[in-house]
Amino acid sequence: MRMRTQYLITTIGGFLITLHSFAGGTLPRNGEPGPGGPRPHQRNAIRTVIIDPGHGGFDTGTKGLYSKEAAIALAVSLKLGKAMADEYPDIKQVFTRTTDEMPGGGSTIASGLNYRAELANKSKGDLFIAIHCNNDGHPAGPFYIHRIIGHRYVGKGKRRHRVPIYQTIRGSHARKGTESYIWKADRGGFKGTAINQRGEGDNEITDSSGEANADSTAFDMTSPEATMRAALYEKRYFANSALFASLVEEQFANSGRLSEGVKQRDEGIRVLQATGMPSVLVEIGFLSNVEEENYLNSEEGQNEVVKNIMDAFRRYKATLEGHPIPASEPTGPPSKVSNSSDQ
Ligand SMILES: [Zn+2]
Repeated sequence: MRMRTQYLITTIGGFLITLHSFAGGTLPRNGEPGPGGPRPHQRNAIRTVIIDPGHGGFDTGTKGLYSKEAAIALAVSLKLGKAMADEYPDIKQVFTRTTDEMPGGGSTIASGLNYRAELANKSKGDLFIAIHCNNDGHPAGPFYIHRIIGHRYVGKGKRRHRVPIYQTIRGSHARKGTESYIWKADRGGFKGTAINQRGEGDNEITDSSGEANADSTAFDMTSPEATMRAALYEKRYFANSALFASLVEEQFANSGRLSEGVKQRDEGIRVLQATGMPSVLVEIGFLSNVEEENYLNSEEGQNEVVKNIMDAFRRYKATLEGHPIPASEPTGPPSKVSNSSDQ
């Protein structure tokens, strides 16, 4: 199992190297493998995680009967950060917000989305996780659907005509479960720009003074090298976004939630397209469904959502680092008990 995965990664790496040499580009590098190089084992594949609680401030997001998406997204995100810090104290966390506010303090949703993406790129995130809640298109609470169940005749003589008979039935908020969104691959050009804006921590650009310059404005964004680099990262980011999203959904399903899987939305999701890193937007449940609203507001429910995402994160990190954890194995934190006879 492990051999197969390593072989697959090597093959992808080989493909990227071929692509690189074919293009004849010389990517800037400081003795480290460039973006096209094979990376079967990254020792610390994830150094910085961006956690993005959806909405905030004047933008409450979707509403349940008694609670709002922005507040639940924040509560779950803070718990996720806590769980990640406990297990991975060396991973740097960057929150787009930690209180009920619009990130960046702007007065429009668009300004908040730009701020989130810029913060993520500036912080050189290795993974971007946005937390949101869903709705089924009807406001929470009772709603009614009118449907035609037959016809009757009214009036007399020439005025006699057929009118529909309506039945009013109570709608049900039946939709429930989770889904995770990744950016659409065919809109990659935008992502490529974000990748070059961000620059790469392991591929620092050296300026004339010889100092590694993390500020990528020193680099010509329109150069063939920049375009090539963006294309190579894009492939890897897409694959990694899809991997993390599918692990998240798998863990939700394993814990008994209804998972609708990994999706790509037709209209763009700004924070996913504008972030130069693997990025996933997780819809953790339907606030329009009161059962799920209760679940998402409960400590137990929030803790379970966080555990599912952490189980996925652990498997994602392990996969990038060359030792994937199969789903069938217990996915709890690694045991602290060491067996000295193994040494
Ligand atoms: Zn949302």
